[in-house]
Amino acid sequence: MTAPICTDGFIHKKTKKIMIRRRQPERSQQVRHAVQWLFIALNAWIGVQFYLWVRYYERGGVGLYVPRPAGVDGWLPIAGLMNSKYLLATGRVPAVHPAAMYLFLGFLLMSLLLKKAFCSWLCPVGTLSENLWKIGQRIFKHSFHLPAWLDVPLRAIKYLLVAFFVWIIGAMSAEALDGFMASPYGVVADVKMLNFFRDIGLAAAIVIGVLAVLSILVQNFWCRYLCPYGALLGIASLLSPVKIRRDVEACVDCGKCATVCPASLKVDELVQIRSVECNACMACVAACSTQDALQFALPARKQDVRQQRWFRRALSPLAVAAVIAYIFFGTILIARATGHWQSNIPQDVYINLVPYANQVTHAGI
Ligand code: SF4
Ligand code: SF4
Repeated sequence: MTAPICTDGFIHKKTKKIMIRRRQPERSQQVRHAVQWLFIALNAWIGVQFYLWVRYYERGGVGLYVPRPAGVDGWLPIAGLMNSKYLLATGRVPAVHPAAMYLFLGFLLMSLLLKKAFCSWLCPVGTLSENLWKIGQRIFKHSFHLPAWLDVPLRAIKYLLVAFFVWIIGAMSAEALDGFMASPYGVVADVKMLNFFRDIGLAAAIVIGVLAVLSILVQNFWCRYLCPYGALLGIASLLSPVKIRRDVEACVDCGKCATVCPASLKVDELVQIRSVECNACMACVAACSTQDALQFALPARKQDVRQQRWFRRALSPLAVAAVIAYIFFGTILIARATGHWQSNIPQDVYINLVPYANQVTHAGI
């Protein structure tokens, strides 16, 4: 039994620390889920528009025409990386899939400011993953954790993948990057991606099915072990000034924050979470019922460092959502205003390529 000491304070039974209950309800998960589903709706809309655009060219340019949604480039992270290297090398915005580059740089900026918020607030694969492990928890009453001897080497896979892509793309010259993106393969990379899901083969369906089952059993299986995009954003997130920060004086060491962390981080033992695995989901903050004990916050001001007080530096869930929205829509606005949002490809090129996208192969293959 906890012993009441005042109207809102209790002595925590294990630590004998005075626990002051939250004065305001914590709404991070409601806000985050709303942002996640809005982004899913946006992607569904982009998907339908892109499908109609592809069908127009597959019919030989007759019937209903809808413009190509440039946002589909967000599903081409490799093109985003290649085009970013091209921009860095030449100072010029690439002509093909420039939106892939803008979105990639926008998500990179998000990670530099807000840890891997992209993964837990926007990424549709992250949203799907989260809902799958929640289904698993409903069925099995808990998620399964891989033993450390398996978990640690598996976590290295995503870094090996990202190192591979960075190495290959880093070694390409600007001319080679331009040649690849402007080749038939580069131009219809988005159509090939759609066709992959439209005409999915047995082997690919089995792999996706296995990943779905593993995602039900293990929290964020894809994100934790395999996603190179998340790995890259995780490395950038090390520089984020906003982190999960714990006030050791206010904290009553109940451990609830660590229990709910999908990345299995020791939130209840650390003062701040620097880990590349933290995706800024704020589930730990939502689980903490102690006033000012845990925040997604900027570093303390100098005079507050001794006490490790973060509460005047915390970002509310709405502020996090606002920063994400500013970066996302700001990036699109800049790209549109400078005339670099859409690929600069003439219609007759699409007429000749889109219906035959499956036959278009990478140069040299
Ligand atoms: S530390 Fe908190 S914000 Fe980071 S992943 Fe764990 S629960 Fe989410
Ligand atoms: S920070 Fe974690 S351990 Fe401390 S009171 Fe909050 S939930 Fe409990």
